[in-house]
Amino acid sequence: MSRTSEILDQARKDGRKFLLEPEAKAICKEYDIPITQFKIANNEAEAIKFTEEIGYPVVLKIVSPDIIHKSDVGGVIINVKNAKDLQDAYKQIMDSVRKHKPKARIIGLLIQEMAPQSTEVIVGATKDPQFGPTLMFGLGGIFVEILKDVTFRIAPITEDEAREMITELKAYPLLKGYRNLPLADIKAIVKILMNTSKLMTEHQEIKEIDLNPIMVYKKGAKTVDARIILE
Ligand code: ADP
Ligand code: MG
Repeated sequence: MSRTSEILDQARKDGRKFLLEPEAKAICKEYDIPITQFKIANNEAEAIKFTEEIGYPVVLKIVSPDIIHKSDVGGVIINVKNAKDLQDAYKQIMDSVRKHKPKARIIGLLIQEMAPQSTEVIVGATKDPQFGPTLMFGLGGIFVEILKDVTFRIAPITEDEAREMITELKAYPLLKGYRNLPLADIKAIVKILMNTSKLMTEHQEIKEIDLNPIMVYKKGAKTVDARIILE
């Protein structure tokens, strides 16, 4: 059985409707969607050990089946630069989560590589009641939230359709490099769109995917946060 099927089965057995970030990212990895390297630590000693393997700076995030929006409960600390900061951040996250959600079951702390700041894009997938799996693409932040500058296609998409989803955006010129924004690797985005389409098509038990944000670089891209919601 594929890793993706194993993860989806486990969630179904547990009666969970959304996947933990490490599960969502493991699925992304299997579908060749680039992600930030990660490990789950169960205590401070492990957190230090894993951070040394990954290399500073790192990002720490709470892993809990009861917490879907991690920042809302103080569950994310970025740019942790050394062992002292790591210990402080570990305690800060645990304290904050216990305060905001005393009953949350805590699986551990996700240690992940810090992705350098760059152009942020969003790839999403939902199920349209009429057309089935549908893909969405947009630039991060205000472009999606305020300007609603997004494009849609019904899955499965062809490579040409993936390219159109990108070039049709009003903000597309920004991806070609503008002021302090670097030239974005369009090929890498096309690949992510196609692989998300494939994942959505092959696993109809997935209701929603949200890769938000994805940092796009001159060469390559990295999914920083991944959410997968099940039917
Ligand atoms: P939430 O569950 O609150 O959406 P995220 O995982 O998206 O949590 O983290 C919140 C924000 O922190 C992200 O939108 C991103 O700006 C930043 N961030 C998270 N992980 C990383 C990372 N690995 N590298 C760089 N920035 C990150
Ligand atoms: Mg997020």
